[in-house]
Amino acid sequence: MTIEKRTVINPSDVLAVELECSGCKHRIVRPSGQWLNAIHACPNCGVSWSYHRDVLSRLQEIIVNLGVISHQQSTDSKSPLRIRFEIAGDNKP
Ligand SMILES: [Zn+2]
Repeated sequence: MTIEKRTVINPSDVLAVELECSGCKHRIVRPSGQWLNAIHACPNCGVSWSYHRDVLSRLQEIIVNLGVISHQQSTDSKSPLRIRFEIAGDNKP
């Protein structure tokens, strides 16, 4: 017999994404489904994050789309599709 343990989460389990400035450790939290405005620099120390503009743009898309998917799954109980994410966890049986 093989026992396999996996840890999965629903899109609605992701509440927010956190960005931390590696210089001053200031943190920005964007709730799932919301991004509000573009981030070009640390709002605390002012260091430019424009070099990572592409990553921030992709992250924005992920967070906004995660909110859309989470809302869709929570309001469409008859959907033939359930989306979950597998995450790292304690895989010991
Ligand atoms: Zn900073």
